[in-house]
Amino acid sequence: MQNLLERIASAVRPLARTGRVASYIPGLADVEPSQFGIAIATLEGDIYAAGDSDQPFSIQSISKVFALTLAMRLKDDELWARVGRLPSSNQFNSLIELELEEGKPRNPFLNPGALAVSDMLSSRNTQMELAVLSLLRDLSGNAALQYDLDVARGEFACAHRNLAAAHLMKSFGNFRNPVEDVVKAYCAQCAIAASCKDLAVAALFLANGGADLRMRKVLEARQAQQVCALMMSSGTYEASGETAFSIGLPIKSGVGGGVLAVIPRFGTVCSWSPPLDEKGNSVAGLKAIELVAAELDRTVFS
Ligand code: GLN
Repeated sequence: MQNLLERIASAVRPLARTGRVASYIPGLADVEPSQFGIAIATLEGDIYAAGDSDQPFSIQSISKVFALTLAMRLKDDELWARVGRLPSSNQFNSLIELELEEGKPRNPFLNPGALAVSDMLSSRNTQMELAVLSLLRDLSGNAALQYDLDVARGEFACAHRNLAAAHLMKSFGNFRNPVEDVVKAYCAQCAIAASCKDLAVAALFLANGGADLRMRKVLEARQAQQVCALMMSSGTYEASGETAFSIGLPIKSGVGGGVLAVIPRFGTVCSWSPPLDEKGNSVAGLKAIELVAAELDRTVFS
């Protein structure tokens, strides 16, 4: 396994040159683009890693998996009345469908859907970003995880689209709390910094029927399957169909360059390489996951 990861790291590193680091969030624009890390965590409790797998990076939209987990623990009924489960062929920050579909975001991994989730969590937590951070600390076993305040502040300062999305939802009655507060909390949630190893370990419950390795129930088994289904249909945004076709695993990406994949009943893989393709997915990170799935012959269909 170790050899496999080293080989994959060498094979995909050059691909990073074809992508571009996210620059619309000021704190992400100067990240060193040549960094690459990968980690596999298994249900047996083993961790295999290569490259910069201990280096914390901005998890961005990968945080949406953990925020969704918290929301599903609260109230499935309210959640699914407010947020759909449909894939989208628009960009993650698009507002087009939101207007046409009367303020109900298509899924919790699009920015509007994630904002509705953050709004739901804000109704029950004075600082919902802390709830997401605590869950990640707990599941990763890394109590030192933090958010990068510079990244959070930088994103909030230019969060016009996310503010617009939240206002639009509010105009349709699908947003409860003050827009600015929730968007600020959402930016902090996205600015959590964690490494490939942290994220791979934290997501193990999704590969394990909803329970972590200490057999604590994080979600019901059915709910864990549903999170995976959404990762498969919407986790890499408008590339999700292509990703399901070429990789065949539930995957969630973030514009920090992280890619988190679940291999049911086996474990998780997290890769990281900052340069992104035009849809906002890490070029080398996604390719690395594709090679892991192919080499291990582990997809949800195999
Ligand atoms: N914080 C980012 C945003 O709201 C997250 C987007 C992403 O990672 N795809 O635009």
